[in-house]
Amino acid sequence: MSTPLDPELRRALAERIRYYNYLGIYNFYRRPIVDTQNTSPDLAPSQSLPEALTSESMFASEISPPEGPADPARALRLIREDIGDCTRCRLHKQGRKQIVFGVGNPDAELLFIGEAPGADEDEQGEPFVGRAGQLLNNMIKAMGLRREDVYIANIIKCRPPGNRTPERDECETCSPFLMRQIEVISPKAIVALGSVAAKTLLAVNAPMSELRGRWYDFRGTKLAVTYHPAFLLRDPRQKKEAWKDLQMVMKGLGLKAPETSQD
Ligand code: URA
Repeated sequence: MSTPLDPELRRALAERIRYYNYLGIYNFYRRPIVDTQNTSPDLAPSQSLPEALTSESMFASEISPPEGPADPARALRLIREDIGDCTRCRLHKQGRKQIVFGVGNPDAELLFIGEAPGADEDEQGEPFVGRAGQLLNNMIKAMGLRREDVYIANIIKCRPPGNRTPERDECETCSPFLMRQIEVISPKAIVALGSVAAKTLLAVNAPMSELRGRWYDFRGTKLAVTYHPAFLLRDPRQKKEAWKDLQMVMKGLGLKAPETSQD
């Protein structure tokens, strides 16, 4: 007998399929469901599936390749919808006001990844809008880019209480959404800002002085590490080292520093 699919499950499945479609996956194969309690040798596997899953109509509209080019802005909105009003880790009950998803050009060639939202970001719902954000804007400008050309996100999307360093399990719970953002944006280069971003993305434990100054391969994308702007505010002498990292990134992207005005 056929079983109608729960509407919420149907919506979630359709959403997941749209996401796979976005990644270019259109064909789905079912594994036969074997009823181990009540196995009848002459029962074809598909007969034991709910009707909504066996009917081609469920997938028909979902599996046809999209007409135009992939729409990363829409794919990012789907990821944001999947996050919802997240309660997956303890941070949702530790004073965060809102989820800080990420901001910028969904087609960006360059993606900056910081650590976690601070008070200003939690207030405004946008990453890097406080003092560290001002410095990041200046770094982006020095590279000849505008903030709206790049994409900016964090390892975790909720402000930790008192701006403490994110716990490992918080990073592990939240970062799969960042991985999906990276897949959708598909940048030419990623810059990890500071040690939390670098260590989480590269799964290594080494001091910043050892991590920066070279390219890494992050799932097929070039990744560079540089100092976090908040650290540079505390120790401005390191700005020249950070500039060396950014120059390496510019070279990797074929960017030239803008002419500085003499007046
Ligand atoms: N520091 C971060 O790592 N991220 C922000 O969004 C702001 C400050």
